[in-house]
Amino acid sequence: MAIADGFWGAVLDTPLIRLHRASEATGCEILGKAEFMNPGGSVKDRAALGILQDAVARGVLTPGKPGTVVEGTAGNTGIGLALAANARGWKSVIVVPETQSREKLDFLRMIGADLRLVPPKPYADPGNYVHVSRRLAEEMGGEAAGVLYANQFDNPANGRAHEQTTGPEIWNQTGGKVDAFTCACGTGGTLAGVARALKAKNDKVRIVLADPEGSGLDAWVKTGTVKASPGSSVTEGIGQAARAPGNLQGAPIDDSVTIPDAEALEQVFSLLIDEGISVGGSAGLNVAAAIRVAKAMGPGHTVVTVLCDGGARYQSKLFNPAFLREKGLPVPSWLA
Ligand code: PMP
Repeated sequence: MAIADGFWGAVLDTPLIRLHRASEATGCEILGKAEFMNPGGSVKDRAALGILQDAVARGVLTPGKPGTVVEGTAGNTGIGLALAANARGWKSVIVVPETQSREKLDFLRMIGADLRLVPPKPYADPGNYVHVSRRLAEEMGGEAAGVLYANQFDNPANGRAHEQTTGPEIWNQTGGKVDAFTCACGTGGTLAGVARALKAKNDKVRIVLADPEGSGLDAWVKTGTVKASPGSSVTEGIGQAARAPGNLQGAPIDDSVTIPDAEALEQVFSLLIDEGISVGGSAGLNVAAAIRVAKAMGPGHTVVTVLCDGGARYQSKLFNPAFLREKGLPVPSWLA
């Protein structure tokens, strides 16, 4: 391994991990891309870096010169942006719905981000965190003043980062033996970018969107219209009730599946206790989706998914018996 050049050089080249339980249960090879091993702790480090590299290339931000990054985020993109900004001498202003896990909010404060908490509002409401962050960037003077609105949902630099890094890494790590790829979408950057990269190599690779309950992207894939499914989810950073973000538009997606929280958490707990891999809720949902895709395809196939972030980011929620009970979710034996 070469020496990584600081935070910016340490993003990428994550391991692809064989998930034994899921593989045995399906007769397939189920592989998880260990994105929790990025320096900011999540898959969103890739999007953050891609967006900032693009801003540097466009002359909006210059290393060592004053600059500010503004973003609305469920937390992980903000963490990646703030750390990458620190490494270049820029400030970060991060707008997050106050319902996101305490661990992510505390971490954002710890790393020096100017954290702005907002009440959770639907996308149609001007108080939605995405709109608040966009207005904030405008009020601060916008790009002319060295203020970048990262705009992860609609900034193509996000999906491009995955098309240029995550997708090719998966292709190379599997030696091209990949039959399907599935993952949930927040911005859709991961799914769309990886889908484009894999389909360019082999258009038979099956791409399946994984959705939490209460999201409308499953319906969007199947009917072309975003329509929220019944229920809700404790997972963070995934699902869209009101729209398909720009980064998802035009992505080559073959199918989609909605995964209930109980099924996602079963995988979170099994990965931790049976395999020693600590992940958050979206990664559990992704593995549950990979199992469903593998069962539908039959034994002998290779299905790849994403282990988006680590479990420690959700200690106060997914690993807290009181929280699980309040949500009507099963409490695993060692936590009860
Ligand atoms: N999992 C987690 C924990 C996330 O924070 C996010 C991004 N908000 C995703 C999955 C989804 O990634 P993407 O934005 O690339 O769709």
